[in-house]
Amino acid sequence: MKTLEFTLQTLASRFVLLLTLLSLLLMISGCAGQMTRMMGHMALGQQVDYLNIEGATGSHLDQLSPKVWTYNWGFDRTLIVDTDVGLVVVDSFTKELSKRLLRELKHAGLDKPVHTLIYTHFHLDHVGGGAILKPKHVIAHEKTESYWQDFDITHLGIAKPTKTINGDVEMNIGGVAFQLLYGGFSHTDTFYAVHLPEENLLYAADTVGVEVFLPVGGIAIYTPGYYRMLERIANIDFTTFVSSHFKVGDKKDFLEAKELQFTIQRLVQEEILKYDGEVALHQNKDAMLTLYDNVHDQLYDKYGDWHGFSAQIVPTILGAYVNSLVGN
Ligand SMILES: [Zn+2]
Repeated sequence: MKTLEFTLQTLASRFVLLLTLLSLLLMISGCAGQMTRMMGHMALGQQVDYLNIEGATGSHLDQLSPKVWTYNWGFDRTLIVDTDVGLVVVDSFTKELSKRLLRELKHAGLDKPVHTLIYTHFHLDHVGGGAILKPKHVIAHEKTESYWQDFDITHLGIAKPTKTINGDVEMNIGGVAFQLLYGGFSHTDTFYAVHLPEENLLYAADTVGVEVFLPVGGIAIYTPGYYRMLERIANIDFTTFVSSHFKVGDKKDFLEAKELQFTIQRLVQEEILKYDGEVALHQNKDAMLTLYDNVHDQLYDKYGDWHGFSAQIVPTILGAYVNSLVGN
């Protein structure tokens, strides 16, 4: 283990040395712009590689229970419920996904019309393509359309809501019980988790992923509300956990991923409270790097083998720091 650590450290220091030499060379030759481009390519390339993981690539329709299916096209994962009155789809994402979904459903013999489309929240990456599904009913939070007015959505192929809701809603569609759990001000204030109690399944878009660090350090929007929502979901009975991105898991996966989110915030807060320097922590490089090291090392011990640790650890820690600082 020590040898491996030593080798990694040696490689890392050689890499830094190489980068420094390269940057010097480029600066001397008047190509500083090339350097920033190269650094950008490395950082962005890492983020793109991070997204290409099993469960978040290709096109797959999988059956989760006698009545429930999930379909992912690339990074987006939807839910399909087979009811007596037709299909219920939760989030349609994009025109491309919706088109492919209909084709895959037909191949699987699920060629009933789409009875209801449910939007989990207003975000544009979740609501495109619905028009292709030709749903009879479209359910969304009452503030959804007012947010859409702030964006150009004409190219997205959106199916507009036919029924708006607020607060928790229970409904029965074609013999299947749906519990729509309102998330408050969390990942937007239009957020719903979809619980199918009889199927022991929970679909919670943009909450946590199975054994992954979240993209760009987190997707909370408003962190305290996001934590409240995670806590609420944790108290619900379900076996299968489906997020809108990454692979399908179970309740244990959800609880572990939730624990990671709480741990990040707690560790960062502990470091902030320890600091008593004369300038703000974020203007003290030594203190900021110490915060990073301490949080990094404690997270690495438990989550070092989770997907995206190396790609997301910096934005994760920095994001948690900013959230604590500004009260987000
Ligand atoms: Zn979202």
